[in-house]
Amino acid sequence: MSFIIIAIDGPTGVGKSTIARQLAEKISCLYVDTGAMFRCLAWRWGQQGCPESDELLRELGEQTRIFFDNGKVFCNEIDVTEEIRSEYISSLASRISLFPAIRVVLKKQQRALVKEVRESGTYKGAVLEGRDIGTVVFPEADYKFYVDASPEIRAERRFLQLQERNVEADFQEILSALNERDHQDENRDLAPLRAAEDAVIIDTGNLSREQVLRHLLENAGMEEVFA
Ligand code: C5P
Repeated sequence: MSFIIIAIDGPTGVGKSTIARQLAEKISCLYVDTGAMFRCLAWRWGQQGCPESDELLRELGEQTRIFFDNGKVFCNEIDVTEEIRSEYISSLASRISLFPAIRVVLKKQQRALVKEVRESGTYKGAVLEGRDIGTVVFPEADYKFYVDASPEIRAERRFLQLQERNVEADFQEILSALNERDHQDENRDLAPLRAAEDAVIIDTGNLSREQVLRHLLENAGMEEVFA
């Protein structure tokens, strides 16, 4: 069986990471969280005072080695798994993703990572989640999904998650931060967030995680492929 590439795109806070991770695990594929890659570069960018020169950003991207190991994210050998999840890094990641130099460097790294894994024969394929995987990074992907939900539903899920962890949260603040990131992701000139024409669109609004997963497997006929 040939190596399979699955693209899962969608807006912020829709639960893509969990869905993509579970899918990858179920069908013995590598899981690649491309948002974490943008977050790693944003983390380093913040440390350097956020210079806006394309040349410096290209250098920053090329000098950053990102790898995933056992659910952890490493940036130049430093474990940044927790740190890159802060609201501050979320907003920096959204800002840095607007720069062409960053998008070019990460696209190259994402394709190189998949090539390496394909050649190693360790996995049956790769599940990549992000904003532009099906449209720009892997337009040739075997399966493309676009997962969506209204901003209110996504904000509410985030609000409940924070409440469960006893973290103080304000629903309106979460909603407006989310709308702002959506706006930035959808309206940038390069690789804006949108569903690929040949993507299967899944509205997760009224679906549980298990139902979404089943939907993905059924829609792409993957149950048969990986039986
Ligand atoms: O998915 P996550 O919230 O971790 O992504 C962080 C930010 O990185 C997003 O807000 C988006 O601006 C950017 N991003 C992107 N393209 C991707 C993945 C993430 O522009 N493929």
